[in-house]
Amino acid sequence: MSTQDESAAGAAPRTYTPDVVVVGAGTAGCYAAATVAREGYDVVVLERKNEDEAGHIACGDALKGASDFPDAIPRSQLEPAITNTEVDHGRFEIPQEDTVLEIPVPGELAVIDRWEYGKRIIEGAENAGAEIHYDTVVQTVTQEAESGRVTGVEGMRAGDPVSYEADVVIDAAGALSVLQDEVDFSESTFDTNVDYSHFCSAYREIVHVEEPVEWSDALVFKPTERAAGYLWYFPRTETEINAGLGFQMTEEPMQLVDDLKRDLENRTEFDGADVADKLGAALPTRRPYDSAVHPGYMAVGDAAGHVNPTTGGGIAGAAYAGKYAAEQAIEALETGDFSEETFWEYNELVMDHFGARYATLDVYNILSTAVDVDDLMSLLAAMPGDKLAEALYSGSTDIGLKLKLEALLKSRGHWGTIWTLYRTKRRADDLLEHYEAYPSSPDDLAAWQQRRDELLEAVYETTGADPKY
Ligand SMILES: Cc1cc2nc3c(=O)[nH]c(=O)nc-3n(C[C@H](O)[C@H](O)[C@H](O)COP(=O)(O)OP(=O)(O)OC[C@H]3O[C@@H](n4cnc5c(N)ncnc54)[C@H](O)[C@@H]3O)c2cc1C
Repeated sequence: MSTQDESAAGAAPRTYTPDVVVVGAGTAGCYAAATVAREGYDVVVLERKNEDEAGHIACGDALKGASDFPDAIPRSQLEPAITNTEVDHGRFEIPQEDTVLEIPVPGELAVIDRWEYGKRIIEGAENAGAEIHYDTVVQTVTQEAESGRVTGVEGMRAGDPVSYEADVVIDAAGALSVLQDEVDFSESTFDTNVDYSHFCSAYREIVHVEEPVEWSDALVFKPTERAAGYLWYFPRTETEINAGLGFQMTEEPMQLVDDLKRDLENRTEFDGADVADKLGAALPTRRPYDSAVHPGYMAVGDAAGHVNPTTGGGIAGAAYAGKYAAEQAIEALETGDFSEETFWEYNELVMDHFGARYATLDVYNILSTAVDVDDLMSLLAAMPGDKLAEALYSGSTDIGLKLKLEALLKSRGHWGTIWTLYRTKRRADDLLEHYEAYPSSPDDLAAWQQRRDELLEAVYETTGADPKY
């Protein structure tokens, strides 16, 4: 990477010219940078935090499928951060029904020390050959006047102006990325239909308890007492718990810190507990961006809505999005073509791997804004956990005759809700089928979006929810 230092003369910012600039040293940014660096290209990661704070990110610390993560950062690099591999089910506490539902979670599941993990993936990107610039806050994006192609970013590094000129900019700056306020996307199909109401506001504390908790093999979930939100208790170890809560920004705001405190005070296992760390942030709980590419520019991870909108799990999606975007960046560097068409395959890979599924799960978020939560909770309380798990993880509309019969027998009084759920599942399946036919070129996106929007209209009609998009 060449550097021009004109800042001494006071005339211009220091300028760097890597092949690829990645903004944000989170999961998406580190996996993207490691993938590019392994092919021998110059890549620099810009991180606004200093070296000590980098990797310190608000999270529930639950990690799914780590053994399948992209190998640009070897799994052995992450292992020391994985503190609890005993978790294998969700424990849903439904206080209004005095019920606890235990639902098995298939596949590899773990709870991690998130800060340690954050540091380890940064080290993994460095080991692969990426350069990290800490204390570097990106403020604007540069674009070619005529074509609109993104050509770099500008910001402040440790208080001094700095400029990066790169063939590809990867926006891994997380939820509500400031870069997207700066880019003029009029020359591409990049998704700009993004609203604050598509986000969840969340807060978590790391709490040390005196005695081992009884549920150290479970991810504990619970609806909040006031307003529509949910609490979680994820055990990093038997005595170190990630306790947090969140609410969708369409709902009445919660007092996150006070509401968590109240719940902790009511749980005897937290008597005499110490709070070690507190952090809050927003996370996207929406469908993935219809397109996250623009000439010279791709958005990855939270910056492109790559989060499971029902669980808030975004680490795995971010890792893969980083890899897929990096592969298209490499192709562009090899062919010299930095167009939207060249990057398009990245959109396709995301939709194919997890995007279609997340967009379909968003239907249940939409449903949850319209149904009575108490009604839904008492219905869930009447369900057998293993059958519910089957219904949740099977990809089809066939929720199983046995479950239907058990539901009907045990859930008198909730038949209206069951009928709405059943019809909603049908609408979700239609949507999934449509996402599976995601277009292979930006030219076909508008027609695909039109049909998708028709299918969403049917979702709003079935659920009675207000339009989300
Ligand atoms: C409270 C909470 C709980 C969660 N729980 C879970 C969970 O249990 N499991 C799970 O899988 N996911 C969880 N998530 C979601 C998960 O944390 C994110 O999806 C994931 O971290 C996204 O990774 P990312 O790399 O896209 O963004 P981030 O991890 O947010 O990284 C973005 C990086 O960009 C940097 N940055 C931002 N702006 C700039 C700028 N202008 N200039 C330079 N640098 C910048 C930031 O400092 C940060 O380091 C949770 C999220 C929250 C908020």
